[in-house]
Amino acid sequence: MTTELKDMGIIDGKETAAQVRSEVAGHVATLKARGIAPSLVVVLVGDDPASQVYVRNKDKAAVGAGFLVETVRLPATTSQSDLMEVVQGLNADPTKHGILIQLPLPKGLEAEPVLRALDPSKDVDGLHPSNVASIWRGGRGLVPCTPAGCIELLDRYGVEIEGKRAVVVGRSQLVGKPLSALLLARNATVTMCHSRTVDLPGVCREADILVAAVGKSELVKRDWVKPGAVVLDVGINRGEDGKLRGDVAFAEVSEVASMITPVPGGIGPMTIAMLLWNTARAAAKSAGIPWDAIASSNAS
Ligand code: NDP
Repeated sequence: MTTELKDMGIIDGKETAAQVRSEVAGHVATLKARGIAPSLVVVLVGDDPASQVYVRNKDKAAVGAGFLVETVRLPATTSQSDLMEVVQGLNADPTKHGILIQLPLPKGLEAEPVLRALDPSKDVDGLHPSNVASIWRGGRGLVPCTPAGCIELLDRYGVEIEGKRAVVVGRSQLVGKPLSALLLARNATVTMCHSRTVDLPGVCREADILVAAVGKSELVKRDWVKPGAVVLDVGINRGEDGKLRGDVAFAEVSEVASMITPVPGGIGPMTIAMLLWNTARAAAKSAGIPWDAIASSNAS
């Protein structure tokens, strides 16, 4: 199946994510053999149905890879100060290695102070200001999961990044900006686009690597894409027919792109896989074990 998809130029995020999860499970086993029980805590405030599904999927994947997993469920009426207190308690607990605050928070609660309050070394979503700064400075902080998943897919599919023209459509803190920084750190020439970009199709046509992270169903059309370009579609949009679609018109763009991620089954599964990766890294770091030592002990 995967070979067939590869021949068609389709980047199989589902299969690659399964590989990453299995590698992480190996790293978790290595850490356990050294007496560390890697753990992830997800803080879920309120009862937003989409968040409940995301948290369930993260929990399931983390348990599957051997992590200890805890979900702290708080009512939507939780005050900002009570939430901060919960975060501080988790920061201080040496048995908790990764902390994830499920966003968005309910109305009345501000995310920014909560993210700032996280211990950066446990911030497995990579959203603390010092982790954000670390990406731009080429440091080794925790990297936001979706951008990390994009880079991992490019690497595992042998896409050269250095020297390439990369165009990222979208400039959010969660995806567009950190992904642009990661591509820049890998020596791509990067253009970041947004809602005020003039001649967006023309700018996209310059890309060797084109990333769409917008949230507008099938915005990117065939004639926006240079023949042979690699296209990563981060967008997740649910149509009125209930189907999920990306930000790229997949059927027509796949005729010109050399490689393309589908939706679903592209970037989405990689996001959770990279969350697990970050959590294993955080656990190793907390025990003072260099990540390279863990990764190389499991290299086949
Ligand atoms: P945001 O809404 O935070 O950002 C969207 C960005 O797209 C903004 O920078 C905005 O520009 C830009 N934009 C909006 N309309 C246009 C347009 N017509 N032309 C060009 N740029 C435009 O979204 P996120 O970054 O959080 O998410 C983007 C998409 O990715 C969503 O569909 C989301 O569901 C999906 N997603 C998927 C994940 C996964 O695991 N696969 C994880 C995270 C997100 P401006 O700044 O000017 O407003």
